[in-house]
Amino acid sequence: MIEYILSLILGLFIGSFLNCVVYRVYNKKTFLKGHSFCPKCNHNLSVLDLIPIFSYLSLKGKCRYCKEPISKQYLFVELITGVVFFLVAYLLNASFLTQGFLNLEFLNLIFYFFVASYFIMIFIFDLKWFIIPDGLTFSGIAVTLFYLILSTFLNVLSVEELFVRVLTAFIVFLFFFALYFFSEGKAMGFGDVKLVVFLGLLLSFPNILPALFVAFFLGAVIGLIMMLFKKKGMKSEIPFGPFLVFGTFVSLFFGEYFISWYLSLM
Ligand SMILES: [Zn+2]
Repeated sequence: MIEYILSLILGLFIGSFLNCVVYRVYNKKTFLKGHSFCPKCNHNLSVLDLIPIFSYLSLKGKCRYCKEPISKQYLFVELITGVVFFLVAYLLNASFLTQGFLNLEFLNLIFYFFVASYFIMIFIFDLKWFIIPDGLTFSGIAVTLFYLILSTFLNVLSVEELFVRVLTAFIVFLFFFALYFFSEGKAMGFGDVKLVVFLGLLLSFPNILPALFVAFFLGAVIGLIMMLFKKKGMKSEIPFGPFLVFGTFVSLFFGEYFISWYLSLM
């Protein structure tokens, strides 16, 4: 239980860091050096300003220096990252306080924290700016490939399963590329086509199927709701990336349930 709370707290801090990474990637600034600063007045932030949630609440959502309001997005991302890290620790039965850190379970936990962080950044980017930066997708693919190859060396993953994952990624890439190509980019952007390589490697077959089902289903439902209430035309863009990462997150942990439920219907 303490592990879950520690993961929640880690998530709040990582969420604060992800806000900063997203801002810097979007503005094409390096995030390896330099202080955090207020995007409105450029004043450097002190350590006190960087404490997640607490600093936002104690400053009542305003910058300490210029009193301009701080975007609620910062608070939201910190909270959501905390909750997602808590969920990941819970779903993976994190027990590093008793089991220690030098084992596969802990490596797995760290990998899923990485994946969750990528998903959250991709979610914000696509929702806000309708783009998924290549830097995020490609580094996500690289981290996943490294993890899969390491798992194969450690005999956690068979060579066949590694092959199935690469093949899944390739097939789902072709499927999305066809959707992109024949709809002339109207069904989805090319960013989504690259993103599914990352998701295919993570999920493998058949878990990719419930992920895509959840993404397309939610995308259609929310698209319909938007059209009804905001009178948006068919052409108005609804980013698909957030649905894809959400579907993948659900399928990573609950894919088996979906599949056995579906098979029981047959
Ligand atoms: Zn300021």
